[in-house]
Amino acid sequence: MKLRNTAAAAVVVLALAASATACGKSGSPNDNGDKGDKASGGASAPAVPTYPVNTSADVKGSPVFEKIKGKTITIGTKADQPGLGYENPGTKKRTGFDVEIARMIAADLGFDEKHITFKTVPSEARETQIASGGVDLYVGTYTINDERKKQVGFAGPYYVAGQDLLVKADSSVKGPEDLKGKKVCSATGSTPLQRIKEPKYGVAEAKAQQGYQLCVQDLVNGTVDAVTTDDAILKGYAAENKGALKVVGKPFSKEPYGVGLKKDDAALREAVNKAIEAHEKNGDWKKAYDATLGLSGTQAPAPPAIERY
Ligand code: GLU
Repeated sequence: MKLRNTAAAAVVVLALAASATACGKSGSPNDNGDKGDKASGGASAPAVPTYPVNTSADVKGSPVFEKIKGKTITIGTKADQPGLGYENPGTKKRTGFDVEIARMIAADLGFDEKHITFKTVPSEARETQIASGGVDLYVGTYTINDERKKQVGFAGPYYVAGQDLLVKADSSVKGPEDLKGKKVCSATGSTPLQRIKEPKYGVAEAKAQQGYQLCVQDLVNGTVDAVTTDDAILKGYAAENKGALKVVGKPFSKEPYGVGLKKDDAALREAVNKAIEAHEKNGDWKKAYDATLGLSGTQAPAPPAIERY
């Protein structure tokens, strides 16, 4: 059995994640290099677990596994969502809860860190990337819903988020009911963008961006009044912009996060479900949560029940 050794790297990255930058800089405030060292509390940030690799993994009847067995697994994720799916532009290190979920599953399927290729895939490209085989799995704040199930399969859920709003600290917006006539930004191909366009919210503009980091820049610049997406995502940006931005904290949807995979690969779907359950049971899930999403101050919830369909 091989063990992944990312604990040291994780501590560094977590220290960065814990650093609250109030400068509202463009790009990736998570990556302010040595600034992370000065973060209070950074030193005590918990480390992500390591996941023993199952060297005799097999997934009988899975066309995707057959193709990648003994080679490399390509996993799609986000790169601009601190705490969930984040890629340090300098070191190229990937961190976040989604990335950890991906690593746990990969380990159970027989792939160590060297045999995982992470691929950044934005919300709008997920279904095409999964369906075309551009990625073998997708782990990136991907809400399970019936519409998407027409095109892809889902294992999980492994977490349940809720749509919320990120606003400037002095904003009068206290919930979705205050959005009438406001400009709101979200990501193309996401459920929050679709929802916020519903007439009942009365927004003046629903601006679509390629990713949420771009929306946050719009908010900081004053081009929009709010960013809307899952609370889990928004908390990461709020932590980076402490004092300047805040999450309203009134979730108005349920967003169960699934692992996207080829629609008809039921064997792989079940193998991934089992992997998620195993790591929930052995404590990895909670440790990973505490070392990533938990840094924004929210206690780990009980993991949701796997939905087998
Ligand atoms: N969970 C939502 C979705 O899958 C929003 C987050 C995202 O765009 O990844 O659409």
